[in-house]
Amino acid sequence: MELKGKKVLVVGLGKSGLAAALFLRQRGAQVTVSDMRSAAALAREIPALLEQGVMVESGGHGLLTFRRQDLIVVSPGVPLDTPELVQVKAFGLPVIGELELAAQFLKGNILAITGSNGKTTTTVLTGECLIAAGLPTLVGGNIGVPVVDLIAKTSDKSWSVLEVSSFQLESTRLFHPRIAVILNITPDHLDRHGTFEKYALAKERIFAAQGAGDFLVLNADSRRSSEAASRSLATVYWFSLEGAVERGAWVKDGQVVFRAAAGGPVESILPLVEIPLKGSHNVENVLAAVCAARLVGAPPAAIAKAIGAFRAVEHRLEYVATANGVEFYNDSKATNVDAAAKAIAAFPGCIHLILGGKDKNSNYADLSDLLRKRVKAVYTIGSAAVKIETQIRGMVHVVPCETLEKAVATASRAAHPGDVVLLSPACSSFDQFESYEHRGKVFKDLVLERTEIGERG
Ligand code: ADP
Repeated sequence: MELKGKKVLVVGLGKSGLAAALFLRQRGAQVTVSDMRSAAALAREIPALLEQGVMVESGGHGLLTFRRQDLIVVSPGVPLDTPELVQVKAFGLPVIGELELAAQFLKGNILAITGSNGKTTTTVLTGECLIAAGLPTLVGGNIGVPVVDLIAKTSDKSWSVLEVSSFQLESTRLFHPRIAVILNITPDHLDRHGTFEKYALAKERIFAAQGAGDFLVLNADSRRSSEAASRSLATVYWFSLEGAVERGAWVKDGQVVFRAAAGGPVESILPLVEIPLKGSHNVENVLAAVCAARLVGAPPAAIAKAIGAFRAVEHRLEYVATANGVEFYNDSKATNVDAAAKAIAAFPGCIHLILGGKDKNSNYADLSDLLRKRVKAVYTIGSAAVKIETQIRGMVHVVPCETLEKAVATASRAAHPGDVVLLSPACSSFDQFESYEHRGKVFKDLVLERTEIGERG
């Protein structure tokens, strides 16, 4: 794609929007950015943009600004049904995301990972496996490193391991991973995608451009994601916690194993006990990473070494501290019901669970069984609290707390030695916090203050 002299509008000035604007400018495009936020709210970003000769429209979108362009690059946070975008699309203007833009300039191979939950963990795990195998590896995408920022570092031999979200995939056409992974598809972001099926189809765009020489890795135990196999032209590999698969990774006699071809030899990769992460959902993430890394050609020994040395990514079922025999875990990244369910299932019982935040049109009654069997009490916070209390009433003792501060204090007082205090909120954070990272940090600070450890882990 030739960018020199092209008029390009970047809509939404998040991390990837900013990176896209600067990249486009470097390649000689005439770049404008447009964001709904006020100039004051964008005070940090605007000077760097103006300095590079990027024009900035803040405080709303002008239809004229949109009409005057050759190309529009949308940030993942901006819904594609924004009226200005719908209008310009009707005029035939190309509207793409940062991922689609970047993918056209990345050299080498793309290994892309999507799913409702487990993306970041699996992306980092897979990246570590390739690095341990000595392969030229770059890790980025939804994980917080814009894909355009990887471009300059890629070569024909490199592997770009990318975490991709349904929002990013929604606008892709040419994005073509050599290996694509769909970890699972469970309800999330229904407030944005409308229906579960639309959300699932956005995820399936990960393999839309793949052909027969490519690979698609799917979860044999997840009904909606395994259905994708019938729509894919790629060679499908499977992973399963439940039993052997024709080609792919599974657990056999306490070992993670891999088989490259149907009926072929079964390779042992590593014993389950050497996986240093909690919960069976993390075994699934390991199986997916093993499959992807073996398809790239990483040797089993390198994969085993990388997995054995892995530590939970911050805010993903992260151990914080133990005080008076009570363990505290930060799972602030559990921003949907399925993620929270997996976190609860990772502990045998005696859980004091902090739930709540901003609702995403979720059904918390889906947690009923787990709440009854494993949770001693639920402490609710944030704007979803009343909805949660209504949906789980009668299943478990519920303590309305409103704030995280009060929830940590109340749960700590109630917990006995051997119990676990778990923040796995099943909601997004934006009602009371800037982000899930902010929420997780506040939680850890509150815990560490209480436990008087004083060190930040
Ligand atoms: P994502 O990037 O997709 O949000 P993360 O690796 O950041 O995924 O994990 C987010 C949360 O989802 C974790 O805190 C955990 O509670 C849950 N989780 C992780 N892996 C899985 C999985 N394979 N299936 C279901 N839930 C998972």
